[in-house]
Amino acid sequence: MTPTNGGWRDNKRQSQRQGDLRLVCRDIACEEYLVANENSQFDVLVIGAGPGGYVAAIRAAQLGARVGIVEKQYIGGTCLNVGCIPSKALLHIAQTYAELRELDKIGIKLNAEPTLDMSVAVAFKDKVVKQLTGGVAQLLKANKVAIFEGTAETLSPNRVRVTLKDGTTQELETGKLILANGSVPIAPPFPGLDGRNVIFSDDAMNMPKVPESLVCIGGGVIAVELACMFNALGSKVTIVEMLPAIIANEDEEVSQALTRSLSKRGVEIAVGAKVESIADADGKKRVTATTSDGQQKTFDGEYVLVAVGRKANPAGLDGLIRAGLAMDRGRVVADDHLQTNLPGVYAIGDLVGKTWLAHVAMMEGELAAEHALGHDAVMDYTIVPRPIFTFPEIASVGLTEKQARERGGAVRAEKFPWVANGKALATGETEGFTKVILGDYGEILGAAIFGPDATNLITEFSLAMRAELTADEVIATIHPHPTYSEALREATLAAEGRAVHIFQRSAAAAARR
Ligand code: FAD
Ligand code: NAD
Repeated sequence: MTPTNGGWRDNKRQSQRQGDLRLVCRDIACEEYLVANENSQFDVLVIGAGPGGYVAAIRAAQLGARVGIVEKQYIGGTCLNVGCIPSKALLHIAQTYAELRELDKIGIKLNAEPTLDMSVAVAFKDKVVKQLTGGVAQLLKANKVAIFEGTAETLSPNRVRVTLKDGTTQELETGKLILANGSVPIAPPFPGLDGRNVIFSDDAMNMPKVPESLVCIGGGVIAVELACMFNALGSKVTIVEMLPAIIANEDEEVSQALTRSLSKRGVEIAVGAKVESIADADGKKRVTATTSDGQQKTFDGEYVLVAVGRKANPAGLDGLIRAGLAMDRGRVVADDHLQTNLPGVYAIGDLVGKTWLAHVAMMEGELAAEHALGHDAVMDYTIVPRPIFTFPEIASVGLTEKQARERGGAVRAEKFPWVANGKALATGETEGFTKVILGDYGEILGAAIFGPDATNLITEFSLAMRAELTADEVIATIHPHPTYSEALREATLAAEGRAVHIFQRSAAAAARR
């Protein structure tokens, strides 16, 4: 099949586009907006320096625009300071700690039981965060982006007042405004939330010690990642989720496999249980939930983690809201060019809340900057990889099997287990599977991986979907041996009914006919 989307044949067109972009900026947008006072007047002003905002600022600067960015708390936003990065540093420590305790299974004896110094673990995490956020600040400066450390308040689509950290205020003017204010955790409206030992994900990044026991309210992405982390560090963890399954948006088989995996490692999981209060009882925290059959159930722990979702943070946008900025359930509405309904005003990332993922915020940031500077950049939300950093990892892209079947048409979905992959056997990573979902013509509708390095491996399917490859082309691609990547090809073969490294009755039956 000829790639029709981003294939080599489109390369010429792509480089033409890059050239056009530079021209647009040099010739029209920048000159139009360039003005005398370089500290208060910009072509593009960005509010919020999270992954959406800082990427937008750098991209706009690359295109030659005069750019300013306002950040009230920390460069790097949620993701770099209290989200993606610190959680992955701590998950790495937890996984290493757990693996050390299993080493005797492969013949390695430690002279003593490993122990954990939580203060050193947190210091390691802090060092990672500092290095990354410092690097981003340097990049912004190197790209000549003016950084304002303060809180932005929008006065109009072209005017923003900043209250700087020293309490003084400054008014900034801009041609285009990119809103990247991000999100904050949802505080559910039940009693006991402000009590001692009730934590949110931000607090989980700075624990003074490993909790003896922890009740997680919510069984979404944050809860399952942190449940894995604290379980590996030695906590007794309970997850209480109101829906019938944890990570309910994912493929059912993945959710079930994670449930089994966590249960095997001693994590208690209660689903169909809506938490209604937190209280102190018997020296612990007591979480009370109502189950789907109307019963009251309680769960006790030393700590309670509240992880019931995040909400957009439109703080500082009152001026635009008064000017008619379109909002939907607290989120700013943006189209696929990232434009809001107000001319020249863009919105990206968690503030728009289409996916709540850092890599989506970054892509939206790049495209918003390009569109703001005159190019018709369009965001495509159909192929978004969804990584979950559990043990083992989960990653999916495209449709789940259920979504594909609900859509109608012929669907072929099959799994290839890690236990049949040589590299997985050699590294003892045999839990889970890779699942591929194919449509009528062998097009890849979706894929889900539960297993080693899933969050890196999923990119093969994302790229294949982006390039509109069919199963045949994945199968015709030689994958190196022995690697985890072979499982992706085998799962694709399995969906076609002809996997080699597992027995498939369908293939044998076809051969006999
Ligand atoms: P944010 O990162 O929230 O940044 C917004 C910034 O705007 C903040 O720095 C804020 O201080 C600033 N701001 C807000 N209002 C103003 C104002 N008025 N003036 C000035 N500044 C302002 N996503 C992934 O893809 N992978 C992961 O592994 C992952 N792990 C996560 C783990 C945790 C525990 C959490 C909580 C989230 C995780 N996420 C992950 C989600 C990810 O962090 C967000 O999707 C991402 O940070 C959104 O980027 P953003 O730029 O839209 O907003
Ligand atoms: P979430 O929406 O994924 O999960 C929240 C869960 O809490 C839901 O399953 C919901 O049913 C449940 N819940 C709500 N109220 C409840 C109640 N009263 N009792 C019991 N359960 C209740 O939200 P999150 O886990 O807080 O994560 C927020 C966002 O951050 C996610 O949407 C995700 O995109 C992003 N994130 C991504 C990653 C990653 O990419 N690896 C990691 C962490 C966070």
